[in-house]
Amino acid sequence: MTDALMPTYARQDIAFSHGRGARLYASDGREFIDFAAGVAVNSLGHAHPKLLAALKEQADKLWHVSNLWRVPEAERLAGRLCASSFADVAFFANSGAEAVEAAIKTARKHFAARGQPQRWHIIAFKGAFHGRTLATIAAAGNDRHLEGFGEPCGGFTQVAPGDIAALAAAITDHTAAVMLEPVRGESGVQPFGDDFLRQVRTLCDERGLLLIFDEVQTGIGRTGRLFAYEHAGVAPDIMALAKGLGGGFPIGACLATADAAAGMTAGTHGSTFGGNPLAMAAAHAVLDVVADAAFLATVRDKGERLKARLEALRANTPNLIAEVRGRGLMLGLVCNRPVTEIIAAALEHGVLLVPSGDGRTARLLPPLTITDDEIGEGLTRLEQALAATSRG
Ligand SMILES: *Cc1c(COP(=O)(O)O)cnc(C)c1O
Repeated sequence: MTDALMPTYARQDIAFSHGRGARLYASDGREFIDFAAGVAVNSLGHAHPKLLAALKEQADKLWHVSNLWRVPEAERLAGRLCASSFADVAFFANSGAEAVEAAIKTARKHFAARGQPQRWHIIAFKGAFHGRTLATIAAAGNDRHLEGFGEPCGGFTQVAPGDIAALAAAITDHTAAVMLEPVRGESGVQPFGDDFLRQVRTLCDERGLLLIFDEVQTGIGRTGRLFAYEHAGVAPDIMALAKGLGGGFPIGACLATADAAAGMTAGTHGSTFGGNPLAMAAAHAVLDVVADAAFLATVRDKGERLKARLEALRANTPNLIAEVRGRGLMLGLVCNRPVTEIIAAALEHGVLLVPSGDGRTARLLPPLTITDDEIGEGLTRLEQALAATSRG
């Protein structure tokens, strides 16, 4: 391994050379079933023909021009995302954290533009994850991520998930918005629950607050609906998207209602790369596949079958697996062993999983296009890995 990379990741010692669908091939010749999908990024798997064709076609025409001029591909993508969501307008960035930053700035500027600049605080939830920039680590309030980086950015508090009274009590004259992930991914696939989301929406309406959903991980079909908020039947005012939207090409998006985004006028925000034609072409290709009722129904079906198989696995190895959580193809296997041990055993047996920040939950986030055969093979390997772990 090279010493020139800043060692900010605890990487497993393996490198991949190519992939097809939900299979990845390592440079040493080994083959893997990919239940990680680049942490919910490769929504169409690897080397999807439509994504490849779209990128190659765009690469031949134009890569980048800057937002000094109109970008028709971005105008059209914003239109598509808005037409299939609650939103009226979109801002394009390049990552999840940037999308969340744009969401935070949109909420703050909304109140400033309405003559209430003192309302710029955001209430988030304990155990949240919103990215690794200075504002997003302050928003999540995770000590492990804040440690050593100086005084956290101001204007953020966190309350206990599921506690509507605590949320109501945390609202002050300075509060602008409430921000949450409908299913907290990084902290171990923890859903807030549809009832709680509805309660939060009602509270925000009563108190005149904006509601921000961080759907960076849950969005773009991951939970079996195009956006996770659809399960609860309530929409946010502002939403951050990223991971699955580009199918592997870096892109982030902040969507908002016209009212919520009223302060985001010319000169208030920007991004050099955001909305670049290559990223737009990738996202269009992803939406061509995912933003389709029949496709989303297959995601829900596959998710239910996978979850049922994991439940059976839990019943057979209760000493190893404590709980199965999640929705669609965003599932968490809560283990009674350190998750690093489970993930190492899975790798050894040819299946890739994603750890969670809680240290005991393995995430299954396969490509949304994964086939039943690939799911079956991945599960067989996972069973073998778990059997080896309980023996070991
Ligand atoms: C991954 C993630 C982010 C951060 O995305 P980056 O692209 O790594 O900046 C933010 N919010 C949620 C919910 C995420 O899962």
